[in-house]
Amino acid sequence: MAVTEPSAVTTAHEGILHRQSTRESAARTYARALPIVPVRARGLTIEGADGRRYLDCLSGAGSLALGHNHPVVLAAIRKVLDSGAPLHVLDLATPVKDAFITELFRTLPAGLAGRARIQFCGPAGTDAVEAALKLARTATRREGVLAFTGAYHGMTAGALAASGGAPEVRVTRLPYPQDYRCPFGTGGPRGAELSARWTESLLDDRKSGVPHPAAMILEPVQGEGGVIPAPDDWLRRMRALTAARDIPLIVDEVQTGVGRTGAFWAVEHSGVTPDVMVLSKAIGGSLPLAVIVYHEDLDVWQPGAHAGTFRGNQLAMAAGTATLAYVREHGLADRAAVLGARMVGQLQALAAEHPCVGDVRGRGLMIGIELVDPAAEVLTAPGPPPAAPELAAAVQRACLQRGLIVELGGRDASVVRILPPLTLTDEQACAVLDRLADAIAAASRAFRPHP
Ligand code: PMP
Repeated sequence: MAVTEPSAVTTAHEGILHRQSTRESAARTYARALPIVPVRARGLTIEGADGRRYLDCLSGAGSLALGHNHPVVLAAIRKVLDSGAPLHVLDLATPVKDAFITELFRTLPAGLAGRARIQFCGPAGTDAVEAALKLARTATRREGVLAFTGAYHGMTAGALAASGGAPEVRVTRLPYPQDYRCPFGTGGPRGAELSARWTESLLDDRKSGVPHPAAMILEPVQGEGGVIPAPDDWLRRMRALTAARDIPLIVDEVQTGVGRTGAFWAVEHSGVTPDVMVLSKAIGGSLPLAVIVYHEDLDVWQPGAHAGTFRGNQLAMAAGTATLAYVREHGLADRAAVLGARMVGQLQALAAEHPCVGDVRGRGLMIGIELVDPAAEVLTAPGPPPAAPELAAAVQRACLQRGLIVELGGRDASVVRILPPLTLTDEQACAVLDRLADAIAAASRAFRPHP
């Protein structure tokens, strides 16, 4: 039997990483913090080319509702491959697509389900955001967009503008409510109330300088912004004030959808029915797929208004149908709610032990741990200590050394993000939290903040 020399394995792994660093773009992202070379994966576990195993709580940036290579997903992909169906069909009708739409529509909030239209977009969340903005502009014949502090909607021009970049696009930025670093210094319902009032006054004050907008776009839980759940009351308020002013409400559920936050769609927590929902990531069952679903009254754009060659990925639609059905049939949203609440509780206990854990928050299995520099507390005005991005990076590295993959997010990349598959077992949750606790303890011991 041929036995691979450990050194040869190490060399192959290191060789790949080295070639990546010399050939791939300086703009590469996840690859910088996670120097691993995945070769096999199943569920929560990834195996690297160096033979090491990792528990993956990044889950393809929140795309893997069922973890890696779930059997129902693989079976759905194989079925299409074996059927002889064409893999490239532009946006033509196929049985695979028909089944996907049927399953997706079945899950939609009741207020939208009966009167929804769907547009298949280029296969990235950002393209679906562009489509949503374009649709709203076309339907309202207005230009400007209301978006929120801390938002992330993607990397193309309109989506980037809504996220705080690309200032040439007209975006009015409004305060997203948050407890820990509340811009009004109050947090809680009072902070959310002030955020809503500011929004309302900008829309109604003739001298606010904000023209009547084409849309409001928001995430029900900000993911990249640092795992900040919107209060349900505030979301209902945004719905009411946009509806009263005939402003389409676009809810970006790219990351929060398909059970992640403890409801199938995060808007269900508040009972809000958006005019447009932007969906991607988990709806493709690990393959690229992005759509917008919107109220039929908005469907006034012209044929070809949002074209694109790759809008008919049959494998992604089949994988997505299998994923949506599995999450629905197995009640995985409820499971995410229960397990997520338990994990947040355990992490809050951890925060009591470590002053560098400033805040633990989340909804369902979308969890964030904000790391701060408690030593700097005395130097600052009232409010939370400053963020500790270097400590967060050290925790991420310490996690990786312990075989745990986590993501960083938030304004200063100081929020450790946990996005496990919704299929996470109790034992796996314990293993994740053990490794994380150990990593936080080790990194905080070694951490000496700059004076
Ligand atoms: N919206 C949200 C809420 C997201 O989290 C992301 C990706 N993190 C996007 C849009 C953009 O999706 P993509 O990276 O597929 O373009």
